[in-house]
Amino acid sequence: MSRIGFYPGSFDPVTLGHIDIIQRAAPLFDRLVIGVGVHHGKEPLFSDEERVAFLEAELGAISSATGTDIAVKTFDNLTVDAAKEAGARFIVRGLRDTDDFNYEMQMAGTNSAMEPTVETLFFAASPDVRHIASKFVRQIAAIGGDTTAFVPEDVARRIAEKLSSG
Ligand code: ADP
Repeated sequence: MSRIGFYPGSFDPVTLGHIDIIQRAAPLFDRLVIGVGVHHGKEPLFSDEERVAFLEAELGAISSATGTDIAVKTFDNLTVDAAKEAGARFIVRGLRDTDDFNYEMQMAGTNSAMEPTVETLFFAASPDVRHIASKFVRQIAAIGGDTTAFVPEDVARRIAEKLSSG
């Protein structure tokens, strides 16, 4: 039986922190599905298509390096349902600080109450990317700042292109 993981998030946009989690989680699985949440009512800075494209640009290299099949999918339903649809028994999340911890523990408990067969696995943020948050990248991008210290090179270039073209 193949081991499948589901890593859900907004990825608005994908950062070096997310990439670090994907690189570290991938070797544990035969297949890792990155779930891009596209829930109604939550207005992202980057469109669903952009968030998926930013991720897809990074995943080929990680897939080759780890031998894990990595896919990106959008989802607008409950995380546990999206995980089950992906065939995953594991949800992957990252922990940066106590804010993440408190929120993530509640979410893992809620998900487990709804679907006890799906287990949440936490990765402690790596020290060199622990400060990185999509929220700050969005703020920097919105006022035309340089995002290269926080997101993959290709993503920083695409962000700059998007903002310069209005
Ligand atoms: P959400 O809107 O679901 O919080 P995010 O895209 O902000 O989605 O984050 C997805 C997951 O990645 C969360 O578990 C978050 O804690 C984790 N994460 C985000 N940034 C980092 C980082 N710099 N280091 C480690 N984990 C991170």
